[in-house]
Amino acid sequence: MKVLKFGGTSLGSAQNINKVISILNNYAESDTIICIVSAVGGITDKLVDAGELAKIKNKSYTDAFKAIKQIHIDIVNELIPTHSDSYRDESVIARIEEKLQVLKSLLDGIYLINEISPKTTDKLLSFGELLSSYIISETLKSRAIDSELKNAQDLITTNSNFTKAEIDYNITNTKIRDYFNTTNFKITILPGFISKSDSGEQTTLGRGGSDFTAAIIAAALKVERLEIWTDVSGMYTANPKVVKQAFPIKTISYQEAMELSHFGARVLYPPTVQPVLDLNIPIVIKNTLQPNARGTFISKRVTDKNSSAISSTPIKGISNINNIALFTLQGNGMVGIPGFSKRLFETLAQEKINVILITQASSEHSICFGIDIKDADVAKTTIDITFENEISLHKIDPIIVEKELSIVALIGDNMKNHQGISGKMFSTLGKNNINVRAIAQGASEKNISAVIAEKDIKKALNSLHEVFFEGNIKRLNVFITGVGNVGEKLVEQIKQQSQYLKNNLKINLRVVGLSNSRTMIFNEEGIPLDSWKEQLQQGEKSSFQGFLKTVKQLNLRNSIFVDVTSNSDLANLYPKYLRNSIAIVACNKIACSNDFKDYKQLKKLSLKYNAPFLFETNVGAGLPVIDTLNNLMASGDKITTIKAVLSGSLNYVFNNFDESIRFHDVVKQAQKEGYTEPDPRIDLSGVDVARKILILVRESGLEMNLNNIENVSFLTQSNLESDTVDDFYNTLIKDETHFQNLFASAKKNNCQLKYVAEFNNGKAKVGLQEIPQGHPFYNLEGKDNIVMFYTERYPEQPMIIKGAGAGAEVTASGLFADIIRIGNN
Ligand code: ADP
Ligand code: ASP
Ligand code: MG
Repeated sequence: MKVLKFGGTSLGSAQNINKVISILNNYAESDTIICIVSAVGGITDKLVDAGELAKIKNKSYTDAFKAIKQIHIDIVNELIPTHSDSYRDESVIARIEEKLQVLKSLLDGIYLINEISPKTTDKLLSFGELLSSYIISETLKSRAIDSELKNAQDLITTNSNFTKAEIDYNITNTKIRDYFNTTNFKITILPGFISKSDSGEQTTLGRGGSDFTAAIIAAALKVERLEIWTDVSGMYTANPKVVKQAFPIKTISYQEAMELSHFGARVLYPPTVQPVLDLNIPIVIKNTLQPNARGTFISKRVTDKNSSAISSTPIKGISNINNIALFTLQGNGMVGIPGFSKRLFETLAQEKINVILITQASSEHSICFGIDIKDADVAKTTIDITFENEISLHKIDPIIVEKELSIVALIGDNMKNHQGISGKMFSTLGKNNINVRAIAQGASEKNISAVIAEKDIKKALNSLHEVFFEGNIKRLNVFITGVGNVGEKLVEQIKQQSQYLKNNLKINLRVVGLSNSRTMIFNEEGIPLDSWKEQLQQGEKSSFQGFLKTVKQLNLRNSIFVDVTSNSDLANLYPKYLRNSIAIVACNKIACSNDFKDYKQLKKLSLKYNAPFLFETNVGAGLPVIDTLNNLMASGDKITTIKAVLSGSLNYVFNNFDESIRFHDVVKQAQKEGYTEPDPRIDLSGVDVARKILILVRESGLEMNLNNIENVSFLTQSNLESDTVDDFYNTLIKDETHFQNLFASAKKNNCQLKYVAEFNNGKAKVGLQEIPQGHPFYNLEGKDNIVMFYTERYPEQPMIIKGAGAGAEVTASGLFADIIRIGNN
């Protein structure tokens, strides 16, 4: 004999009810089946709503009623079609309409008296299960399946604690045994959740209570197992509707299942475990929509070490409860005086308020506890009354209530044998900028729970799940602003490398947001990169603020913002990103080369909010210049001198300039090939190089600003004073002799012209130099960069980094490398 319970999620439509019937049929071939059913999916909520509307004298309760009626009629029409001449479905519809008429009268009554008591609530909610069990039973009969309907209200006997009645096991067990001793049907259908008090009033077992009905019957009859059929393939490592990566737990102990359900895993109603536990009747959670899936086996002993092959964590699952209010009672008058907590919790017990979590600091200066938000107002009022005297004497403060909170809990029997779990839990939450309001850990160490803001719950569940269950695969959520030349290359590289990253670095990199100057798009699951351009074209209008707002709202773990613009307004938003623990990767140089104060502040924020701020591509595109410098510094070395050629554009210009060509034409060519900024004066004036050496100096640990850098320009006065780019080009033609003279002088001295940045003795300068043969800069080709670091450990032979220092492909790969650095962190 087996007890099978089908939840509302399995009974939402005629189609799903047919699935249930086919499962029952299968089982009944070889066994006797007791089948407990919930109300049709969503009906109990609808009944609650209708009752509330009627209570507040809102006429639309009749619409709510009509909707309830229609759902049931539609299901019957589909399950028992009129052409089925073997069965008189008309009578079924008639019976259902009769029952619904009683429901309508009850709602009318509530409307009239403008009130709904717990007793009436139970009467009202009972209709859900009464109707569903009747429909299913009639459907079985219409298909000539050997079955019987039994009203569980005749068997399950409770006290009069309406809406969550307590079972009288003596009476209930006897009634159940007596009834099943006398029947002999293959399948018996019973409504779950509903019961009667010993005085005959209708009661219910609490929301979700059909699971409990099934467990009570299973225990009374000592059946071989209890199966709970629902819409997911078992008890998952976390709520699968919130954590996409969650997976079914294969085996789990009663205690763990109880903890998980108590802390919010709705798949099992918490009291369900109790009746079957002592008798060691296993509970199996199964999926009606995928009956072949293995499901979760709940029993006393857990045989296989863990539910998952890839994880060796002692954590079985992570669950959460939303709608929590946190109360703090504190005051100097509490210290060392016994009885405060007793009075506090007695007060709550009298009001039947369930306390979900308690913490008390060892100073005894405060007690903190979490309850369901719906109880918050009553709790506050009664506590204020209980401690009225102490509050007026300022021995304790008026109670503090915080709302919009959730509890997240890690659960596992084996946690006590492992160190470092809570450390890992809280560092994960901290890294993701999730503030912990209170912590509780039972001495049994089966659970560690933390109270956090409700808005962070999704991020918390996902990041904890990643750390404890996902075999160290780390998900990075990337948001890119500025998908022009470089940005486009970056997206292509990400697309190409994503499988490699997963396989080799255990990084799951997703591009979640993209924007250019016109439009922006977001997709929490990752933008499909095959068609990102088309999608972006159809995106919403972009703005820097709008982009930031969405990144914040999405509130995803491991978020990385990538700035591929050269915009100063965007650089001004960096503090806002960092303050939300969103990492930044920038090729935009502005933030690091503006005022020193701003640069310093970004560094501070990055540390404070645990949000990396990386800008390797600010100097030498993809060359590892800043990373090398940081590593030298981290290992205790000190930079004494830097000599560098840092401008790919200027290098290109002087490598191609000689007596056979006009300086003007070379610059034009460089611009055409994309080696200069749109305004070539930014490169030729040396400002760009000055910014780069400034960044290197700052990263070497020195305070410096742009105006401290000596910039001896090789341009003429009229070049520098030109108003527009065209104007500038004209002055280049006019001053051709000046440039030819520069070249001739270098040639005469057997030198090459290179634009050099230098830092020495605490001072920095940039300017054009004649480089003699044999010098490392002499043979620098094309758009290459070179940086020489002289340090205390490299005093004579510098550390040299050399290679292509400009171009979209290498810059994109430099950005990519920064993203990976964050991933590997
Ligand atoms: P039923 O109507 O079948 O009783 P419930 O809605 O009561 O179904 O419970 C099933 C739901 O529980 C799932 O759809 C899922 O959203 C939720 N749930 C929450 N936490 C978990 C978890 N850890 N494992 C599985 N399901 C969970
Ligand atoms: N129908 C009831 C509810 O929705 C009981 C149950 O489904 O378990 O709470
Ligand atoms: Mg349920």
